[in-house]
Amino acid sequence: MILYSTNHQSPDVSLEEAVFRGLPPDNGLYMPHVIPTLPASFFENIDKMSISEIAFEVSKALLSDDISEENLKMIVERAIDFDAPVVEIEENTHVLELFHGPSMAFKDFGARFMASLMSYFLQKSQKDIHILVATSGDTGGAVAQGFYKTPGIKVTILYPTGKVSDIQEKQLTTLGENVTALEVDGTFDDCQAMVKAAFLDKDLSSKFNLASANSINISRLIPQSFYYFNAFAELKRKGNTKPVVFCVPSGNFGNLSAGLIAQRMGLPVKMFVAATNVNNAVPNYLKSRKYEPVPSKETISNAMDVGNPSNFIRMRLLAGDAHEQVVSHIAGDFSDDVATRKAMKDVFDRTGYVMCPHTAVAYLGLKSYTDTLSEEVAGVLLSTAHYAKFLDVVEDTLGTEVDVPERLSALLSKEKVAIPMSKEFVDFKKYLLG
Ligand SMILES: *Cc1c(COP(=O)(O)O)cnc(C)c1O
Repeated sequence: MILYSTNHQSPDVSLEEAVFRGLPPDNGLYMPHVIPTLPASFFENIDKMSISEIAFEVSKALLSDDISEENLKMIVERAIDFDAPVVEIEENTHVLELFHGPSMAFKDFGARFMASLMSYFLQKSQKDIHILVATSGDTGGAVAQGFYKTPGIKVTILYPTGKVSDIQEKQLTTLGENVTALEVDGTFDDCQAMVKAAFLDKDLSSKFNLASANSINISRLIPQSFYYFNAFAELKRKGNTKPVVFCVPSGNFGNLSAGLIAQRMGLPVKMFVAATNVNNAVPNYLKSRKYEPVPSKETISNAMDVGNPSNFIRMRLLAGDAHEQVVSHIAGDFSDDVATRKAMKDVFDRTGYVMCPHTAVAYLGLKSYTDTLSEEVAGVLLSTAHYAKFLDVVEDTLGTEVDVPERLSALLSKEKVAIPMSKEFVDFKKYLLG
Protein backbone atom coordinates (compact mmCIF):
# COMPACT_ATOMS: atom_id res chain seq x y z
CA MET A 1 0.00 0.00 0.00
CA ILE A 2 1.39 3.39 -1.02
CA LEU A 3 -0.07 6.38 0.77
CA TYR A 4 -0.16 10.07 -0.11
CA SER A 5 -0.82 13.11 2.05
CA THR A 6 -4.13 14.90 1.50
CA ASN A 7 -2.17 18.19 1.62
CA HIS A 8 0.11 16.98 -1.24
CA GLN A 9 3.20 18.67 0.32
CA SER A 10 4.79 15.51 1.79
CA PRO A 11 6.24 12.51 -0.07
CA ASP A 12 4.38 9.24 -0.56
CA VAL A 13 5.09 6.63 2.14
CA SER A 14 4.85 2.88 2.68
CA LEU A 15 2.37 1.33 5.10
CA GLU A 16 5.09 0.91 7.74
CA GLU A 17 6.07 4.58 7.57
CA ALA A 18 2.45 5.74 7.72
CA VAL A 19 1.76 3.54 10.74
CA PHE A 20 4.67 4.90 12.78
CA ARG A 21 4.45 8.52 11.64
CA GLY A 22 0.69 8.78 12.11
CA LEU A 23 0.50 12.21 10.48
CA PRO A 24 2.40 13.38 7.39
CA PRO A 25 4.79 16.32 8.08
CA ASP A 26 2.53 18.69 6.09
CA ASN A 27 -0.29 17.97 8.60
CA GLY A 28 -2.56 16.33 6.03
CA LEU A 29 -3.86 12.78 6.43
CA TYR A 30 -2.46 9.65 4.84
CA MET A 31 -4.68 8.11 2.17
CA PRO A 32 -4.07 5.00 0.07
CA HIS A 33 -3.48 5.73 -3.63
CA VAL A 34 -5.38 2.60 -4.64
CA ILE A 35 -8.34 0.89 -2.98
CA PRO A 36 -8.79 -2.51 -4.67
CA THR A 37 -12.15 -4.13 -5.43
CA LEU A 38 -12.80 -7.58 -3.99
CA PRO A 39 -13.76 -10.35 -6.46
CA ALA A 40 -17.41 -11.40 -6.94
CA SER A 41 -16.56 -14.83 -5.46
CA PHE A 42 -15.79 -13.14 -2.12
CA PHE A 43 -19.32 -11.74 -1.89
CA GLU A 44 -20.84 -15.02 -3.11
CA ASN A 45 -19.19 -16.92 -0.26
CA ILE A 46 -19.20 -14.23 2.41
CA ASP A 47 -22.03 -15.84 4.40
CA LYS A 48 -19.82 -18.89 4.97
CA MET A 49 -17.01 -16.88 6.56
CA SER A 50 -16.28 -15.88 10.17
CA ILE A 51 -15.36 -12.28 11.00
CA SER A 52 -11.66 -13.12 11.24
CA GLU A 53 -11.76 -14.93 7.87
CA ILE A 54 -13.46 -11.87 6.34
CA ALA A 55 -10.89 -9.61 8.00
CA PHE A 56 -8.08 -11.71 6.51
CA GLU A 57 -9.49 -11.53 2.96
CA VAL A 58 -10.02 -7.75 3.20
CA SER A 59 -6.54 -7.11 4.62
CA LYS A 60 -4.99 -9.39 2.02
CA ALA A 61 -6.52 -7.28 -0.76
CA LEU A 62 -5.23 -4.07 0.87
CA LEU A 63 -1.89 -5.07 2.39
CA SER A 64 -0.44 -8.10 0.60
CA ASP A 65 2.28 -5.95 -1.04
CA ASP A 66 3.56 -5.08 2.44
CA ILE A 67 3.08 -8.26 4.47
CA SER A 68 3.14 -11.96 3.56
CA GLU A 69 -0.15 -13.89 3.75
CA GLU A 70 1.16 -15.99 6.60
CA ASN A 71 2.13 -12.98 8.72
CA LEU A 72 -1.05 -11.13 7.84
CA LYS A 73 -3.08 -14.09 9.03
CA MET A 74 -1.27 -14.00 12.37
CA ILE A 75 -1.74 -10.22 12.70
CA VAL A 76 -5.47 -10.45 11.95
CA GLU A 77 -6.12 -13.43 14.20
CA ARG A 78 -4.38 -11.78 17.13
CA ALA A 79 -6.36 -8.53 16.70
CA ILE A 80 -9.86 -9.67 15.67
CA ASP A 81 -10.56 -12.32 18.30
CA PHE A 82 -14.10 -11.23 19.20
CA ASP A 83 -17.36 -11.08 17.27
CA ALA A 84 -19.62 -8.28 15.98
CA PRO A 85 -23.13 -9.75 16.05
CA VAL A 86 -26.19 -8.26 14.37
CA VAL A 87 -29.38 -8.11 16.46
CA GLU A 88 -32.78 -7.30 14.93
CA ILE A 89 -34.62 -5.11 17.46
CA GLU A 90 -37.57 -4.16 15.22
CA GLU A 91 -38.62 -5.15 11.72
CA ASN A 92 -35.87 -3.98 9.30
CA THR A 93 -33.90 -2.39 12.16
CA HIS A 94 -30.69 -4.22 13.02
CA VAL A 95 -28.10 -3.27 15.63
CA LEU A 96 -24.50 -4.07 14.71
CA GLU A 97 -22.97 -4.60 18.16
CA LEU A 98 -19.36 -3.44 18.11
CA PHE A 99 -18.80 -3.64 21.87
CA HIS A 100 -17.77 -7.26 22.40
CA GLY A 101 -14.03 -6.53 22.57
CA PRO A 102 -11.95 -6.07 25.74
CA SER A 103 -12.80 -2.38 26.40
CA MET A 104 -16.43 -2.84 25.24
CA ALA A 105 -16.33 -0.09 22.62
CA PHE A 106 -15.77 -0.22 18.86
CA LYS A 107 -12.36 1.44 19.26
CA ASP A 108 -11.07 -2.04 20.18
CA PHE A 109 -11.07 -2.97 16.49
CA GLY A 110 -8.75 -0.11 15.57
CA ALA A 111 -6.54 -0.24 18.65
CA ARG A 112 -5.98 -4.00 18.59
CA PHE A 113 -5.17 -4.06 14.88
CA MET A 114 -2.77 -1.13 15.25
CA ALA A 115 -1.03 -2.89 18.16
CA SER A 116 -0.77 -6.15 16.27
CA LEU A 117 0.59 -4.44 13.14
CA MET A 118 3.09 -2.26 15.05
CA SER A 119 4.38 -5.19 17.03
CA TYR A 120 4.94 -7.16 13.79
CA PHE A 121 6.94 -4.29 12.23
CA LEU A 122 8.94 -3.77 15.45
CA GLN A 123 9.87 -7.42 15.70
CA LYS A 124 11.18 -7.23 12.15
CA SER A 125 13.30 -4.14 12.88
CA GLN A 126 14.20 -5.09 16.49
CA LYS A 127 13.15 -1.65 17.74
CA ASP A 128 11.31 -0.52 20.87
CA ILE A 129 8.77 2.28 20.93
CA HIS A 130 7.09 4.42 23.54
CA ILE A 131 3.48 5.36 22.80
CA LEU A 132 2.04 8.54 24.29
CA VAL A 133 -1.71 9.02 24.23
CA ALA A 134 -4.07 11.63 25.67
CA THR A 135 -7.62 10.44 26.27
CA SER A 136 -10.97 11.88 27.22
CA GLY A 137 -12.37 8.39 27.81
CA ASP A 138 -12.86 5.57 25.31
CA THR A 139 -9.63 5.85 23.32
CA GLY A 140 -7.40 5.30 26.33
CA GLY A 141 -9.17 2.11 27.40
CA ALA A 142 -9.02 0.59 23.94
CA VAL A 143 -5.36 1.57 23.45
CA ALA A 144 -4.38 0.31 26.92
CA GLN A 145 -6.06 -3.06 26.27
CA GLY A 146 -4.82 -3.23 22.68
CA PHE A 147 -1.15 -2.76 23.58
CA TYR A 148 -1.23 -4.55 26.95
CA LYS A 149 1.78 -6.90 27.21
CA THR A 150 2.80 -6.22 23.60
CA PRO A 151 6.56 -6.87 23.37
CA GLY A 152 8.68 -3.83 22.47
CA ILE A 153 5.95 -1.30 23.24
CA LYS A 154 5.60 0.91 26.31
CA VAL A 155 2.38 2.94 26.69
CA THR A 156 1.85 6.12 28.70
CA ILE A 157 -1.72 7.41 28.93
CA LEU A 158 -2.60 10.92 30.08
CA TYR A 159 -6.13 11.55 31.30
CA PRO A 160 -7.77 14.57 32.94
CA THR A 161 -8.53 14.01 36.60
CA GLY A 162 -12.24 13.86 37.43
CA LYS A 163 -13.28 14.07 33.77
CA VAL A 164 -13.61 10.38 32.86
CA SER A 165 -16.21 7.93 34.21
CA ASP A 166 -15.30 5.48 37.02
CA ILE A 167 -15.31 2.53 34.65
CA GLN A 168 -13.24 4.37 32.06
CA GLU A 169 -10.69 5.36 34.72
CA LYS A 170 -10.40 1.78 35.95
CA GLN A 171 -9.87 0.58 32.38
CA LEU A 172 -6.82 2.87 32.19
CA THR A 173 -5.37 2.42 35.64
CA THR A 174 -5.68 -1.27 36.56
CA LEU A 175 -3.68 -3.05 33.86
CA GLY A 176 -0.08 -2.29 34.89
CA GLU A 177 2.77 -4.13 33.08
CA ASN A 178 3.75 -1.97 30.07
CA VAL A 179 0.82 0.47 30.56
CA THR A 180 1.24 3.54 32.81
CA ALA A 181 -1.55 6.02 33.55
CA LEU A 182 -0.84 9.66 34.39
CA GLU A 183 -3.67 11.49 36.15
CA VAL A 184 -3.29 15.07 34.99
CA ASP A 185 -4.49 18.00 37.05
CA GLY A 186 -6.03 19.71 34.02
CA THR A 187 -8.40 19.23 31.08
CA PHE A 188 -8.29 16.90 28.10
CA ASP A 189 -6.90 19.79 26.04
CA ASP A 190 -4.03 20.13 28.55
CA CYS A 191 -3.26 16.41 28.18
CA GLN A 192 -3.26 16.71 24.42
CA ALA A 193 -0.98 19.78 24.54
CA MET A 194 1.51 17.88 26.75
CA VAL A 195 1.64 14.98 24.30
CA LYS A 196 2.09 17.34 21.35
CA ALA A 197 4.92 19.17 23.15
CA ALA A 198 6.63 15.84 23.88
CA PHE A 199 6.67 14.93 20.19
CA LEU A 200 8.32 18.27 19.36
CA ASP A 201 10.91 18.08 22.17
CA LYS A 202 14.48 17.36 20.98
CA ASP A 203 15.70 15.77 24.25
CA LEU A 204 12.81 13.35 24.33
CA SER A 205 12.95 12.44 20.66
CA SER A 206 16.69 11.74 20.84
CA LYS A 207 16.23 9.46 23.85
CA PHE A 208 13.01 7.64 22.92
CA ASN A 209 11.31 6.30 19.86
CA LEU A 210 8.04 8.12 20.48
CA ALA A 211 4.88 7.14 18.59
CA SER A 212 1.24 8.16 18.69
CA ALA A 213 -1.87 5.99 18.78
CA ASN A 214 -4.02 8.76 17.41
CA SER A 215 -7.35 7.95 15.79
CA ILE A 216 -6.19 9.33 12.43
CA ASN A 217 -3.61 6.53 12.11
CA ILE A 218 -4.32 4.54 8.94
CA SER A 219 -3.90 1.28 10.87
CA ARG A 220 -6.97 2.14 12.95
CA LEU A 221 -9.07 2.89 9.89
CA ILE A 222 -8.45 -0.32 7.94
CA PRO A 223 -9.82 -2.79 10.56
CA GLN A 224 -12.96 -0.72 11.01
CA SER A 225 -13.98 -1.73 7.48
CA PHE A 226 -14.07 -5.42 8.50
CA TYR A 227 -17.32 -5.25 10.44
CA TYR A 228 -19.29 -3.65 7.61
CA PHE A 229 -18.52 -6.75 5.51
CA ASN A 230 -19.32 -8.95 8.49
CA ALA A 231 -22.72 -7.25 8.96
CA PHE A 232 -23.50 -7.88 5.31
CA ALA A 233 -22.57 -11.56 5.80
CA GLU A 234 -24.83 -11.79 8.88
CA LEU A 235 -27.77 -10.26 6.98
CA LYS A 236 -27.18 -12.66 4.10
CA ARG A 237 -27.24 -15.59 6.54
CA LYS A 238 -30.57 -14.30 7.82
CA GLY A 239 -31.91 -14.39 4.23
CA ASN A 240 -31.94 -10.65 3.66
CA THR A 241 -32.25 -9.50 0.04
CA LYS A 242 -33.18 -5.85 0.71
CA PRO A 243 -30.78 -2.97 0.05
CA VAL A 244 -28.64 -2.18 3.10
CA VAL A 245 -28.42 1.21 4.84
CA PHE A 246 -25.78 1.80 7.55
CA CYS A 247 -26.25 4.53 10.14
CA VAL A 248 -23.02 5.53 11.90
CA PRO A 249 -22.96 7.58 15.14
CA SER A 250 -20.06 9.92 14.43
CA GLY A 251 -17.54 12.24 16.09
CA ASN A 252 -14.24 12.30 14.19
CA PHE A 253 -15.77 10.31 11.29
CA GLY A 254 -13.18 7.52 11.23
CA ASN A 255 -15.90 4.91 11.55
CA LEU A 256 -17.93 6.28 8.65
CA SER A 257 -14.77 6.68 6.51
CA ALA A 258 -14.05 2.98 7.06
CA GLY A 259 -17.56 2.17 5.81
CA LEU A 260 -16.85 4.14 2.64
CA ILE A 261 -13.65 2.11 2.15
CA ALA A 262 -15.74 -1.09 2.37
CA GLN A 263 -18.11 0.33 -0.23
CA ARG A 264 -15.20 1.25 -2.52
CA MET A 265 -14.01 -2.36 -2.19
CA GLY A 266 -17.35 -3.52 -3.58
CA LEU A 267 -19.66 -3.89 -0.57
CA PRO A 268 -23.21 -3.15 -1.76
CA VAL A 269 -24.48 -0.25 0.40
CA LYS A 270 -27.52 1.81 -0.59
CA MET A 271 -26.68 4.70 1.73
CA PHE A 272 -24.71 5.72 4.79
CA VAL A 273 -26.31 7.98 7.35
CA ALA A 274 -23.96 10.29 9.29
CA ALA A 275 -25.65 10.71 12.67
CA THR A 276 -24.32 13.24 15.16
CA ASN A 277 -25.39 14.96 18.35
CA VAL A 278 -25.63 18.78 18.31
CA ASN A 279 -21.99 18.89 17.22
CA ASN A 280 -23.37 18.84 13.69
CA ALA A 281 -20.76 20.36 11.35
CA VAL A 282 -21.04 17.39 8.97
CA PRO A 283 -24.87 17.14 8.74
CA ASN A 284 -24.80 20.92 8.14
CA TYR A 285 -22.23 20.52 5.38
CA LEU A 286 -24.31 17.81 3.70
CA LYS A 287 -27.33 20.11 3.75
CA SER A 288 -25.72 23.47 2.92
CA ARG A 289 -22.45 22.58 1.07
CA LYS A 290 -20.60 24.74 3.59
CA TYR A 291 -18.22 23.11 6.08
CA GLU A 292 -17.99 25.29 9.15
CA PRO A 293 -16.21 23.73 12.14
CA VAL A 294 -17.10 25.21 15.53
CA PRO A 295 -15.94 24.65 19.14
CA SER A 296 -17.44 21.46 20.57
CA LYS A 297 -20.47 21.39 22.88
CA GLU A 298 -20.92 18.92 25.75
CA THR A 299 -23.60 16.24 25.36
CA ILE A 300 -24.56 12.88 26.89
CA SER A 301 -23.05 11.12 23.85
CA ASN A 302 -19.69 12.62 24.80
CA ALA A 303 -17.44 10.44 22.62
CA MET A 304 -18.98 12.37 19.72
CA ASP A 305 -18.47 15.88 21.12
CA VAL A 306 -16.25 16.98 18.24
CA GLY A 307 -16.52 20.42 16.65
CA ASN A 308 -13.96 19.90 13.88
CA PRO A 309 -13.92 16.21 12.87
CA SER A 310 -10.37 15.11 12.07
CA ASN A 311 -11.39 12.65 9.33
CA PHE A 312 -13.68 15.06 7.46
CA ILE A 313 -11.33 15.33 4.45
CA ARG A 314 -10.93 11.54 4.25
CA MET A 315 -14.67 11.06 4.36
CA ARG A 316 -15.22 13.64 1.62
CA LEU A 317 -12.52 12.19 -0.67
CA LEU A 318 -13.73 8.60 -0.17
CA ALA A 319 -17.28 9.67 -1.06
CA GLY A 320 -16.17 11.28 -4.33
CA ASP A 321 -15.06 14.78 -3.21
CA ALA A 322 -17.68 16.90 -5.03
CA HIS A 323 -20.70 17.76 -2.87
CA GLU A 324 -23.24 16.12 -5.21
CA GLN A 325 -21.16 12.91 -5.11
CA VAL A 326 -20.86 13.01 -1.34
CA VAL A 327 -24.61 13.38 -0.79
CA SER A 328 -25.26 10.45 -3.13
CA HIS A 329 -23.38 8.26 -0.60
CA ILE A 330 -24.10 9.95 2.73
CA ALA A 331 -27.27 11.37 4.28
CA GLY A 332 -27.04 13.40 7.48
CA ASP A 333 -29.03 13.75 10.69
CA PHE A 334 -28.44 15.13 14.17
CA SER A 335 -30.24 14.83 17.54
CA ASP A 336 -30.12 16.74 20.80
CA ASP A 337 -29.96 15.16 24.26
CA VAL A 338 -33.72 15.35 24.83
CA ALA A 339 -34.47 13.37 21.65
CA THR A 340 -31.63 10.95 22.42
CA ARG A 341 -32.98 10.16 25.90
CA LYS A 342 -36.49 9.76 24.49
CA ALA A 343 -35.25 7.23 21.91
CA MET A 344 -33.39 5.25 24.60
CA LYS A 345 -36.56 5.12 26.71
CA ASP A 346 -39.00 4.38 23.84
CA VAL A 347 -36.89 1.54 22.43
CA PHE A 348 -36.38 0.06 25.89
CA ASP A 349 -40.11 0.23 26.76
CA ARG A 350 -41.14 -1.27 23.42
CA THR A 351 -38.44 -3.91 22.91
CA GLY A 352 -36.42 -4.28 26.13
CA TYR A 353 -33.23 -3.41 24.21
CA VAL A 354 -30.86 -1.06 26.07
CA MET A 355 -28.87 1.41 23.96
CA CYS A 356 -26.00 3.68 25.02
CA PRO A 357 -26.53 7.37 24.11
CA HIS A 358 -24.30 7.12 20.99
CA THR A 359 -26.29 4.14 19.75
CA ALA A 360 -29.54 6.04 20.33
CA VAL A 361 -28.28 8.91 18.16
CA ALA A 362 -27.73 6.35 15.39
CA TYR A 363 -31.21 4.87 15.93
CA LEU A 364 -32.76 8.31 15.38
CA GLY A 365 -30.56 8.96 12.33
CA LEU A 366 -31.59 5.67 10.75
CA LYS A 367 -35.32 6.36 11.30
CA SER A 368 -35.10 9.89 9.95
CA TYR A 369 -33.58 8.55 6.72
CA THR A 370 -35.68 5.40 6.22
CA ASP A 371 -38.88 7.42 6.84
CA THR A 372 -38.12 9.30 3.60
CA LEU A 373 -37.93 6.09 1.52
CA SER A 374 -40.74 4.41 -0.41
CA GLU A 375 -38.96 1.01 -0.60
CA GLU A 376 -38.14 -1.34 2.27
CA VAL A 377 -34.50 -1.55 3.29
CA ALA A 378 -32.46 -3.45 5.86
CA GLY A 379 -31.38 -0.69 8.26
CA VAL A 380 -28.22 -1.34 10.27
CA LEU A 381 -27.29 1.02 13.08
CA LEU A 382 -23.81 0.75 14.54
CA SER A 383 -23.70 0.37 18.31
CA THR A 384 -20.33 1.82 19.25
CA ALA A 385 -20.28 1.14 23.01
CA HIS A 386 -21.87 -1.11 25.60
CA TYR A 387 -24.54 0.79 27.54
CA ALA A 388 -22.91 -0.01 30.89
CA LYS A 389 -20.01 2.30 30.05
CA PHE A 390 -22.53 5.13 30.44
CA LEU A 391 -24.37 3.70 33.41
CA ASP A 392 -25.46 6.95 35.09
CA VAL A 393 -27.13 8.39 31.99
CA VAL A 394 -28.69 5.04 31.06
CA GLU A 395 -30.22 4.28 34.47
CA ASP A 396 -31.40 7.84 34.91
CA THR A 397 -33.05 7.85 31.47
CA LEU A 398 -34.66 4.41 31.69
CA GLY A 399 -35.73 4.93 35.31
CA THR A 400 -34.52 1.45 36.25
CA GLU A 401 -31.35 -0.42 37.14
CA VAL A 402 -29.70 -2.35 34.32
CA ASP A 403 -27.34 -5.32 34.29
CA VAL A 404 -23.62 -4.58 34.24
CA PRO A 405 -21.50 -7.24 32.51
CA GLU A 406 -19.05 -9.07 34.75
CA ARG A 407 -16.10 -7.73 32.75
CA LEU A 408 -16.96 -4.16 33.74
CA SER A 409 -18.23 -4.73 37.29
CA ALA A 410 -15.08 -6.71 38.14
CA LEU A 411 -13.04 -3.64 37.21
CA LEU A 412 -14.73 -1.45 39.80
CA SER A 413 -13.32 -3.48 42.68
CA LYS A 414 -9.76 -3.38 41.30
CA GLU A 415 -7.25 -0.92 42.71
CA LYS A 416 -6.46 2.17 40.67
CA VAL A 417 -2.77 2.85 40.05
CA ALA A 418 -2.07 6.27 38.53
CA ILE A 419 0.76 8.78 38.81
CA PRO A 420 -0.45 12.29 39.68
CA MET A 421 0.92 14.88 37.24
CA SER A 422 0.62 18.66 36.92
CA LYS A 423 -0.40 20.09 33.58
CA GLU A 424 3.06 21.64 33.08
CA PHE A 425 5.11 20.12 30.28
CA VAL A 426 8.37 20.49 32.27
CA ASP A 427 7.02 18.10 34.92
CA PHE A 428 5.90 15.60 32.30
CA LYS A 429 9.31 15.79 30.61
CA LYS A 430 11.14 15.33 33.91
CA TYR A 431 9.00 12.27 34.57
CA LEU A 432 9.71 10.73 31.15
CA LEU A 433 13.46 11.35 31.40
CA GLY A 434 13.65 10.13 34.98
C1 LIG B 1 -15.11 7.33 19.33
C2 LIG B 1 -16.57 7.03 19.47
C3 LIG B 1 -17.52 7.44 18.50
C4 LIG B 1 -17.15 8.29 17.30
O1 LIG B 1 -16.44 7.57 16.32
P1 LIG B 1 -15.68 8.36 15.15
O2 LIG B 1 -14.96 7.31 14.38
O3 LIG B 1 -14.75 9.33 15.83
O4 LIG B 1 -16.71 9.07 14.34
C5 LIG B 1 -18.84 7.07 18.67
N1 LIG B 1 -19.25 6.36 19.75
C6 LIG B 1 -18.37 5.95 20.70
C7 LIG B 1 -18.89 5.20 21.86
C8 LIG B 1 -17.01 6.26 20.60
O5 LIG B 1 -16.16 5.87 21.56
